[in-house]
Amino acid sequence: MNQHSRTTAILVISVILCSALIIGSIWGLYFFDHAIPNDTSSTEQSESSSYTDSEEQTTAPLPPENTKPKPKKMIALTFDDGPSGAYTHKILDLLEQYQAKATFFVCGYQLKESKKDELQRAISLGCEIGNHSETHAYLTKISEEELLKEIRNTNEKIAQLSGTDYHCTVYRPPYGSVNRKVAETLIQNEIYMYPILWNSDSRDWEYRRDYDNGKITRNEAITGTFETVVREASEGSVILMHDIQSITPDVVALILEKYTAEGYTFVTVSELFGFEEMQDEEAYFKYYNSANSISSLR
Ligand SMILES: [Zn+2]
Repeated sequence: MNQHSRTTAILVISVILCSALIIGSIWGLYFFDHAIPNDTSSTEQSESSSYTDSEEQTTAPLPPENTKPKPKKMIALTFDDGPSGAYTHKILDLLEQYQAKATFFVCGYQLKESKKDELQRAISLGCEIGNHSETHAYLTKISEEELLKEIRNTNEKIAQLSGTDYHCTVYRPPYGSVNRKVAETLIQNEIYMYPILWNSDSRDWEYRRDYDNGKITRNEAITGTFETVVREASEGSVILMHDIQSITPDVVALILEKYTAEGYTFVTVSELFGFEEMQDEEAYFKYYNSANSISSLR
């Protein structure tokens, strides 16, 4: 074998050895990658996949908690003193349009046969009906007997007019007037209801009065009410309005437009506070003015 032939032979052998090495490595990697998970038990597989996940995190640096859905931004609109033959349907039209829900704290004296449509439509749209007493009474200033009559009569009228025996679980004390004694009297008489206050007062009644008295224009009354809400409302707020005020439907339109665009969901007060899942007896002795501010009654 001459020098040239020897060099060629070494070269050929080197190429063959290198190729074998490369093919062997590729096959080995493939085998390692695919054979192990297939051959292991389910427990080992889960360990293997958790290892893979942590490896992937180095390329996708999102910790697991960031992948959880964020809690929704929620607001509870509440309407007192109705139902109103003139304005409740207008508000319900808007709620329906935006697929929003609200809570209507109705007064017993308003619950006539003629208001049946308003009440039933609110319920069918997923809205909540709350008790605002029979005569819009100061609950802390009346006798036990009168208190029970105020609440019971209104609950009965709601149940009857709803056509579905609607069971009311929230009440809004007129003027925000409630204390521990009121709550205890209700519980002692097996009336299990949560007192709901508010943290954003639209003062729609005051703007409407100033408009009616010619002090401000209708537009100013609507804008003024809307801006009062915007100043105070945030995530978890309970907004106080009245569906008996002529300007309120226009204000509701502005609120729904603004907060829907900002990603808010409009829910009932029971949804906001999660009353349906609540098992705590003491919960009846708290007042709820916003999801971020719940205090014990004194
Ligand atoms: Zn009221």
